[in-house]
Amino acid sequence: MDNSSDALRSLPSIDEVLGTKSGQSSVSAIGHKRAVMFARAAVDEIRGSVTAGNLAGGSREELLTIATNRLEELTQNELRTGIRRAINATGVILHTNLGRAPLSQNALDAITETSGYCSLEYDLASGKRGKRGVRAESLAAYLTGAEDALIVNNCASAAFLVLSAFAKGGEAIISRGELVEIGGDFRIPDVLEMSGAVLREVGTTNRTKLSDYEAACGEHTSMILRVHPSNYRIIGFTKKPKLEELAELAEKMGFPFYEDAGSGAITAIPAAGVSDEPVISESIAAGVGLVSFSGDKLLGGPQAGIIVGRRNLVEVLRSHPLYRVLRAGKLVLATLEATLCSYASEMEDLEIPVRRMILATADELAERSREFIEVCKQNSSMTFAIVRGESVIGGGSAPGVSLNGPVISVAHKSNSAVVLEKQLRSGDPAIVARIDGAQLLIDLRTVSDIEENELANALLSIK
Ligand SMILES: *Cc1c(COP(=O)(O)O)cnc(C)c1O
Repeated sequence: MDNSSDALRSLPSIDEVLGTKSGQSSVSAIGHKRAVMFARAAVDEIRGSVTAGNLAGGSREELLTIATNRLEELTQNELRTGIRRAINATGVILHTNLGRAPLSQNALDAITETSGYCSLEYDLASGKRGKRGVRAESLAAYLTGAEDALIVNNCASAAFLVLSAFAKGGEAIISRGELVEIGGDFRIPDVLEMSGAVLREVGTTNRTKLSDYEAACGEHTSMILRVHPSNYRIIGFTKKPKLEELAELAEKMGFPFYEDAGSGAITAIPAAGVSDEPVISESIAAGVGLVSFSGDKLLGGPQAGIIVGRRNLVEVLRSHPLYRVLRAGKLVLATLEATLCSYASEMEDLEIPVRRMILATADELAERSREFIEVCKQNSSMTFAIVRGESVIGGGSAPGVSLNGPVISVAHKSNSAVVLEKQLRSGDPAIVARIDGAQLLIDLRTVSDIEENELANALLSIK
């Protein structure tokens, strides 16, 4: 009892904690008020431990050290939760947790160009108010062969907008095989039903026929819906009608046909296995009225939802009040415009990182890996080997497709792969690598040339 009341008298004041060297660096890192809050939390914790008898006490000096250490820990925890740059050495190209598609250089330049004042909704020719996103929209329409396009915040909001505008209070006919969950607990049907539309499920999980759709058409029907089952494939005894057949049915019945393509590719990607991702222009050519897809999946741009299709349908969306809720901001429109420009000038396979990564050949990667090891092996605590590996597209695209290519296996003379992985992850920039059994694997497919140097330096500096 005496001990603990002595200790309570020795507790440092908040000012004392903040007056230490590490207290001062907390103040400059997170601001005075927030540092005060954390210092108070640290001192309160110590008081709690002393009162509970978990801390036998200590000199004034010792308690001050405990408090500043705790403040430093709280400050570091806070800083770690911020968004920080990461090098993706996992080989998962559209790594959702690492921000999906890395932007092209042109898109990065567009951010610099437009982050101040810009002609977002200003027509420089007339000096009057202009329309937001006109060029990105016209490029999206041009590249997919559609009459018109509209850009919203992401593909989920695109689906929500389309259903709200065309199917609220009515039924959208959808195949049972397309009621998908796409990760992060996001179930497409839940979002679609929020619009007030009823999903009228037809067929079975693996087989749905045109006649199933026909039989479901009735007075409550307001659209036919196709959702691309992005992250899984039903293989074997399967059937679904062609887009053309559904387009014709919708036309005959007089309601819209909408396809949520999810990832989608603007132009076909000539890589093994990626070929069953929907190509948006093919859907438009097949007569689909509206197609939506993500900006930051196979397209390789910013997070956005791109809706393309018939002019009269897109116009309904553009003038819908929800469009004002879901519209994209200037940085998205600028980076999307830059990304689409690469496609328009047929430079996508050179300029868009996602395309480059998908198309990188095993030979190229082997060459890069050899050169990389040549540099890194100067660190005598580590050994490097080239092993067979597989990269994946990720982001809920092209499931089951793996891109063959060599990866680098890294071993440390005394530390395990787990320790090594954590060490790289705690660096600045953070480096995220893969662990496979007892090996740490580095896949250069998802690492840019500049990052490759940083990655080599990080490995060289490990003792
Ligand atoms: C990924 C995906 C979405 C959601 O796209 P976001 O841009 O992440 O909102 C919607 N539908 C399908 C079929 C998808 O694959």
